[in-house]
Amino acid sequence: MGTRVYAQVTDACDAGCAHCGFSCETKGRGLLAVAKLEVFLDDLASQGLRVSHLALTGGEPMLFPDRVFALAERVHARGIRMRLITNASWAKSSKEADRLVDRLRQAGVSGLWIGTGHFHDARIPAQRTTWAVDAALGVGMACHLNHVYLHPLSPGMRGKGLCWVDGRIEADMRTGEAQEGWAAQADDLLSHGWARLWDRGRASALIDELGPELSVELRRDLTQANRGDPLPPMRGLAWDGRPFEGELF
Ligand code: SF4
Repeated sequence: MGTRVYAQVTDACDAGCAHCGFSCETKGRGLLAVAKLEVFLDDLASQGLRVSHLALTGGEPMLFPDRVFALAERVHARGIRMRLITNASWAKSSKEADRLVDRLRQAGVSGLWIGTGHFHDARIPAQRTTWAVDAALGVGMACHLNHVYLHPLSPGMRGKGLCWVDGRIEADMRTGEAQEGWAAQADDLLSHGWARLWDRGRASALIDELGPELSVELRRDLTQANRGDPLPPMRGLAWDGRPFEGELF
């Protein structure tokens, strides 16, 4: 079984989601150096660990596209499968989405995991997500929506921090929120993963806000969910070169 690696390109993010596990803010503190990622991957290799895939994450990595491309090219050169976790804010038009996705593909990124849902949608227009999804599917890139729909005003939705793409779309339709666009694209989206809400950062405070009864219940649900699917081991590298542990998704 290979090891999964998460590399945090930056802690800066333009979404500012209330549930952010890293508590990312618009003004980040720094960027992951290419050399630090190389040393980290060399270290894993020296321990005899085979990296099965690597996710470039943030913050919002594409606030710094040139760094993303540089990191991706080095990872790709090692033959490691790679995806980008993003909020799609960079897909400012259909044309721009196509341009950047094509550049990502050239750098070796083979999948996009796009954050959506109540919290993202407050800052990132849903149209950008659509453009990013269309661009990715257009070049044959795997595309997955990380749709978070825990909402303090919708306690009926609590505890559903993970599900497959189609399930997420159905769930959002059940809340009565306009997601018809996603339903139409559901069959095209590759549902090869799952979203998990962390109990850390702003996410932890948000869970606490639900009150003692609901927060205990949600934490129990999350624990069960995180046990549901056995995952390969995970290693993470923060933007400043610190290794971190704990499940992302
Ligand atoms: S959850 Fe993702 S998109 Fe939202 S603020 Fe955090 S890093 Fe940014």
